Amino acid sequence: MHNDVFCKIIRGEIPSYKIYEDADVLAILDISQVTKGHVLVMPKEHYENFLSTPQEVMHKVMNIAQRIGQVQIKMLGAKGVNILSNAYEAAGQTVMHFHVHVIPRYESNDNFHLEMKENNESLNLPAIADKIKL
Ligand code: 5GP
Repeated sequence: MHNDVFCKIIRGEIPSYKIYEDADVLAILDISQVTKGHVLVMPKEHYENFLSTPQEVMHKVMNIAQRIGQVQIKMLGAKGVNILSNAYEAAGQTVMHFHVHVIPRYESNDNFHLEMKENNESLNLPAIADKIKL
């Protein structure tokens, strides 16, 4: 048994605003709303993050994330949606139970900033590509 906050929510020990629930997947409002309607989708079974989650479980979680993104556009008037899953502390993961953020976007300067600045200068792209080729 795991004692992270999402396992406690899944067991009903902590309340949450549920958006979707089935035997395998739970989706809830994030307690800290980055934008209006920010949702977390997670498997009920405990996996640390997406890197260690079996493919069939990933598939179920992403299927619900997609449906929630569609509803955020339709029902909340969002103009776009970001999905994000942090793995390990260096990437900003704070709850060590796999989850996907589904973040509706209303305008380019809303509260959510994901800046991807170019950082190519001293990188050897062919060598990097060789190293991580699957
Ligand atoms: P991470 O930083 O691990 O990607 O995201 C964890 C998320 O869980 C954060 O956005 C945080 O606001 C949310 N969170 C933490 N504790 C609770 C809680 O008790 N209830 C809900 N609904 N969300 C939580």
